[in-house]
This record gives sequence, C-alpha cells and structure tokens, in this order.
Amino acid sequence: LRETGFHERASMLKALGAYLTERKAALHALSLHTGATPRDGMIDIEGGIGTLFVHASKGKRELPEGKVALDGPFESLGRSGAFGGRHIYTPMRGVMVMINAFNFPVWGMLEKLAPAILAGMPCIVKPATDTCYLTEACVAMMLESGILPEGALQLVSGSAGDLLDHLGPQDYVSFTGSAQPGAMLKAHPNLVRNAVRFSAEQDSLNAAILGPDAAPGTPEWDMYLREAAVEITAKAGQKCTAMRRLIVPEALVSDLAEALADKLSKVVVGDPKVEGVRMGALVSLSQREDVANAAARIGAEAKVIRGGWDGMDVRGDLENGAFHPPTLMLCEDPDAATAVHEVEAFGPVSTILPARDAAHAAALANRGGGSLVGSVFTGDPGFAAEVTLEAAAWHGRIYIADRDTGREATGHGAPVPHMVHGGPGRAGGGEEGGGVRAVLHLMQRTAVQGSPRMLQAVTGVWDAGAPMPAAEAHPFRKAFGDLVIGETLTSAEREVTLADIEHFAEFTGDTFYAHMDEEAAAANPFFPGRVAHGYLLLSFAAGLFVDPAPGPVLANTGLDGLRFTKPVSPGAKVHVTLTVKDKKRRAKDHGEVRWAVSIIDQDGDVCAVYELLTMVQG
Ligand code: NAP
Repeated sequence: LRETGFHERASMLKALGAYLTERKAALHALSLHTGATPRDGMIDIEGGIGTLFVHASKGKRELPEGKVALDGPFESLGRSGAFGGRHIYTPMRGVMVMINAFNFPVWGMLEKLAPAILAGMPCIVKPATDTCYLTEACVAMMLESGILPEGALQLVSGSAGDLLDHLGPQDYVSFTGSAQPGAMLKAHPNLVRNAVRFSAEQDSLNAAILGPDAAPGTPEWDMYLREAAVEITAKAGQKCTAMRRLIVPEALVSDLAEALADKLSKVVVGDPKVEGVRMGALVSLSQREDVANAAARIGAEAKVIRGGWDGMDVRGDLENGAFHPPTLMLCEDPDAATAVHEVEAFGPVSTILPARDAAHAAALANRGGGSLVGSVFTGDPGFAAEVTLEAAAWHGRIYIADRDTGREATGHGAPVPHMVHGGPGRAGGGEEGGGVRAVLHLMQRTAVQGSPRMLQAVTGVWDAGAPMPAAEAHPFRKAFGDLVIGETLTSAEREVTLADIEHFAEFTGDTFYAHMDEEAAAANPFFPGRVAHGYLLLSFAAGLFVDPAPGPVLANTGLDGLRFTKPVSPGAKVHVTLTVKDKKRRAKDHGEVRWAVSIIDQDGDVCAVYELLTMVQG
C-alpha cells in the first residue's frame, strides 16, 4: 500500500465504492437481522460507501499525486533564505487497528478505512461481536474484489485476544464504543509504554437547542420536531450522535412536549422486515435491558411524557423481540439533575430540559461533559452565535438549522466525511472526518530543515533559493510530464512608460490618482510620484513570458499569493522569471502546473511576486 501514492490509493477507494454499490443488496439483507429497518440500513451501508467516494474525490483533488503531503509553506529560518524548513506528512510504518461499535457495522468501518487507506495505513478491523457478521460480509466483498494490495485489510471477529500487546510506536488504535471500555483500552500498558497513538470516539449526551424565536408555526419549529422524532427513532436510537437532551425555552416546553409525544406515538415499531415499520428493534435483548435500566436512572430525575406501548402500532413480537418504545421525558430542574447529563440510554430515549436563555441553554449543553454534536434550531443569528461560541469548546460539531438550510441540511445526527466527527471529554477526544484532515491525522508530521535545494529534493516542490536551471526550450512548449521542477524562463526586458500607464488607465477605466495625478501620488506615503498599475505589470509580465502558439498549455486557471513589493515608476525596465514550482496531475492527460513568477526591475529589485496556475496537457 505504501508503494502507491495518494492518487492511486484514492482510485482504490473509488473502485471499492463501486464494487460494494453493486453488491449492496446482500448487505441490506443481512442488515435487517441487526434490527435495523431498510432506512437505517441506508444510513449504514450507503452512508458508509458514500465516505469511500468522498475521500476518493477529495484525495484526488486535495492531495498530491505522490507519497508526501506538505503542511504549510517554506519557513525561512535565516536572513538570506539559505536555510529553512518545511513540514511534511509521510505514512506511518504500522497498522491501524479499528475497534468498532455494534451500531454501524458498515459505516463505522468504512468511515475509518477510507482515510486510513489514503494515508497508506493497512487496517485490521475488529467489529463489535453483536453485528460482526455484517462487517465480515462487507470485508469479504472488499477482499474478493482484489482492489487493495494483499494484507491491506484484515479482520478479527470476536475477542481481540492479545492483539494490542503486539502493537508498537508506528501503529494506531482507533476505538469506537462506550466510555468505559474506551478508558480501559486507552490505559493498556503496552499502548502506554510504546506511546501508540490512540483515538476514541465514545458515547455522548448530545443536546439539541431550540431558540426562543422558533415557536409553533415557524419553519424552525417544524424542523426541530421533525429532526427530534427522527433522532429518537432512527436505528431505534442506537446512534452515537442522537439527540439525547432536548433543550427548549421554558415558554415552549409544554407545546413541544405535546407535539413530540404525539409524533412519537404515531411511529410504527416492529420487525424491520414488515412493511410499514419505521422503527426496528435494538440489537439484542441485553441491549434492551441496558436501555431500560438507563431510562430508569434518568427517570428518577424526570417524568415520562410518552412511554410504554399504549396506543402504539406494533408489528413485532414484543415478548421475544428486542423492542423498546420511543420514550420522551421531561426533567423540570435540569440544573439540579445529574443522571440526565451523564447516563446514555443507547436506545429511543430523550429528555426535554427547559432553558431560560441562550447562556443557560449552552451551559446545559456543556453539562454533557463533551459531546460529538450539539445543534441549534433558530432563525435568530444572535442566538445562534451566542450558543455556538459558548458551546463550541465542548463539542466536536455544531449544527445550526434554520429556514435557509431547508432540504439541503444533512441533519443533526449525520456525521459527514467533509466535516470533523468526534468530540472532547466524554466523547473521547478523538477526531475523525473533516476531509483531508482525517488523512493527515493518521500520518506522521515531520519538520525537515535544510537548504532550499535539499528541501526540494525531499518535497518535490521548488522554493525561492533552490536552483533555477535555465529552461532549454520555452516551458510553454513542454508537455506536463516533461516539465522539470525548478526550470526557469528569464524573459526579455520591457520599459514601462508614462504613455503605457495613461493608455492602460483610459482603456480599463482605472484612473486612480496614484497613476494619473503626480502631486496627489507624491503626497501618498507609499509612492514617489505616479506609478504603474499593478494590473498593468501583471499584463506586461504575461506579454513577456507567454509563448503564443497553440501548445500543451491549455488554460490559465488563476493566481495565488500576489504581492506588489516595490512601486514601478515610469521609465523603469522590468523583466520576469517564470519557474516551475509544483505539478499536480489532475487527469490522465493533463495536470496543474504552479509557476513562481517574479517581476524584477533594472536594479534587480522584485516589484511583484505571485504563483500562476496553468492546466497543461501531457
Ligand atoms: P462497546 O461495548 O464499548 O464496544 C465497542 C467495541 O469495543 C466492540 O468492538 C467491543 O468488542 C470492543 N471491546 C470491548 N472491550 C474490549 C477489550 N477489552 N478489548 C478489545 N476490544 C474490546 O460499545 P458498543 O456497545 O459496541 O457500541 C455502543 C456505544 O458506542 C455507545 O455508547 C455509542 O454511543 C458508542 N458509539 C460511538 C460512536 C462515535 O462515533 N463516537 C459511534 C458509534 C457508537 P465486543 O463487541 O466483542 O465486546
């Protein structure tokens, strides 16, 4: 796996996604056995496959083709620039052991596998025993596809045995599960001794805050009701991100309690294979017992608004099936309560907590001791900002829902691969997702110091101070694959005249006084008198370095980091250096070339610098 570069690994993820998509019906059939409805199965299976596709495309677009990723620009560490540093990411030389929770047997694996494969880390998957048959089926498909190099993906079902005893400093353990085993595994003596990287995604008492403006009749009220009902019942509440605490303005509590209880009582619960069932079973009878016990502990501080099976449409065997009724409680004194902020009932159980104002709502949310996600449903930007800034330090993700987000909103409970998933404190302190962040998180970041020439050899990127060998032919005549990092074109010289400046001013309409009024320009602290437009210099630069005939250069796609460093007065003579700084392949037949451009005057002073981007064939 480590012999391949980022783009090749991204292609593997895309191929895996396509392979699993073709076979997803078999996974869905197994998913029903876990108690999940077909809709729950989609969150797990299609959701999991989706992370492969997102990482595949982000890997191609945002990571280099090769094996080294860079973090930040060249840091000059001396006066002349002869010595400096770069930060690089390279793959760890070990494996990623992922210990996963039972509730998302496919997504839980794929959302970690995607960044790990991109990072060049082989994976050993240890699924939770209760649903390991579904993970196993998915792993078997990926292995039979032959897409990954042999050994890059392995599976251990059942007990992990002494697996953790064999890990060393280059390995990585990614745990997802409840807080107690997480804390125990984190303190495993071998992991501590070898400083094995450990990340934990644990349970969390996620809060959903309703704004005081979001009264019945507003779109935000409707969104809150809809999402709360989904969060309580999807996966029968077995979702690490589910809304456990519904923080509601005191004045809206009774309306909300009534409306939500009504919605929950209409949910059809039962065997997920039966038509019309919206909420399935918990994963096991022992899970049902755990949920009932946890609900009873919360119930000691709260009263039940909606619970039990009375009036519900049930289409399953209540006696022998692991069903739990959707349960809504109200805790009238959330400041004095403790269990409601500490006990995770990993099932369809949520509690309403009244809040006085934004500060109180955020303080209650923070009582969870660290959460994966918190949400705010409001049309009031001031309320949203106050809650977010008060609560952000205790949350991995904050979801703000209002009428503008409409149907595009992904939902309180849905971690998306583009955004960070994980939270501080109780939530485990881990960080997954977040696009390329998740990949870099799994790699070693190393500061490399040396001369620009040596750094170029390591990074494959030219920085000022590295050699600039003169291009033998005009670089615009060279195909993408033939351009050499560092090769430089030095242009002819051109005088910038007053007539040029006036012509440019009239032609473009940019008659700013610094170009047109000698006295006013001279009074400006930055200018000696009238000076050339920066954009005129850029245009002259293009005129000096461009090779006009059709050739491999397809388009100019932009420029970065433009700085005008010295004013150019009429009569100055400028020339340009154009250096191949970096190349990124974008497709089989073309790539993006980043050129370092300097505009230099007759005194050898740099008047402007920028990085020019072009798409080049070949
Ligand atoms: P769990 O009981 O903590 O188990 C999690 C994983 O740890 C399972 O694979 C389990 O294997 C393994 N495990 C337990 N003890 C171990 C040991 N001594 N050595 C090696 N592995 C060990 O959690 P769960 O019941 O499967 O999942 C539900 C919990 O996960 C909930 O609390 C939920 O909030 C949390 N969760 C969090 C996230 C997140 O992203 N933050 C996502 C999903 C779920 P066995 O099954 O074989 O015991």
